Amino acid sequence: MIPDAVAQQWWSATATWRLLHCPASATPAHAPTRPHAQTPDNVGSVAHLALQTWVERGEWSHPECATRLQERFDEVATEHKIDPVRMHQGAATRARLKTRASQLAAILSSTSSDIRSEVLLRDESNRLFGILDIAGTGSDGFIIDFKTGRDASPDSSTAIEHQMTFYAHLFQASYGTLPKRVIVFSLRQGPTEIQVTPSMVAVLLDQIRAANLTELTVARPGAHTCRFCPKRMTCQPHWDAVPGWERPDAIEGVLENIERSSSRTTTALIGGRWLTGIPESALPSATVPGKSLRAVRVRCRNDSDPAEWTAGNTTHIQVIPR
Ligand code: SF4
Repeated sequence: MIPDAVAQQWWSATATWRLLHCPASATPAHAPTRPHAQTPDNVGSVAHLALQTWVERGEWSHPECATRLQERFDEVATEHKIDPVRMHQGAATRARLKTRASQLAAILSSTSSDIRSEVLLRDESNRLFGILDIAGTGSDGFIIDFKTGRDASPDSSTAIEHQMTFYAHLFQASYGTLPKRVIVFSLRQGPTEIQVTPSMVAVLLDQIRAANLTELTVARPGAHTCRFCPKRMTCQPHWDAVPGWERPDAIEGVLENIERSSSRTTTALIGGRWLTGIPESALPSATVPGKSLRAVRVRCRNDSDPAEWTAGNTTHIQVIPR
């Protein structure tokens, strides 16, 4: 059992991964609930909503399953007044859905399980919870996590193993046995099966219990851990550590100059370093010379002197009050 001091909190797969790697970045939940229905703001969430409908209607068993999945994607986009082509990776994701649908349908057809999507599972005794993209219950139970971006790359394999072991444990806590198949289904790379054993689950639970004894103020900066941390902009241990990283991906300083181009990107001189290719959407409206800025998920171009930095689609910039 997790100690009483933290027994009122609930932990998701992501929160426990953060707890293990940097306690200061971990945010437990008050209750094991699904996120509130909201407008999808990226192509991955549009694809997830499309997949949910496709599974719930049993369209994966239809001869035209691939077309059906693409139609669901278009429906979600239309419903939320989104033009997928204007979203980052929108057109590619729409095309991949059609290409990969029959592969996913073949997996679902190969089982006699009761197939459901967006399944909320919990482990009451350890206060763990998670939402499985697709789960099949029964004698040949399985779980599938659906990934639309680069988050299924080999670079993220440790995080994926954590996540899938966590989900397999929740499945066992709910249905009494580990799932026979644990599958990560990437739209880019197709399905990957992960072996989850009882000892892997036991080790993970031990690690989570031990980590729960750590103060949630302990920060352990690291390039991979910090990259998408929601607390990054204001986490001083991280800003102190970034310059020492092998490949720093963040800069900060006073905005000295700003130049807008006709190609909807901006170049900014921040603390004596040029940052180029800033997407319009990444610049806060109050960005004027003299303000202090922090930019994360930027890349240093070592081939220029002085070094230039480039922004990308995941770059985030914030004005920092001084
Ligand atoms: S930014 Fe890095 S060090 Fe700071 S809380 Fe997040 S993961 Fe931890």
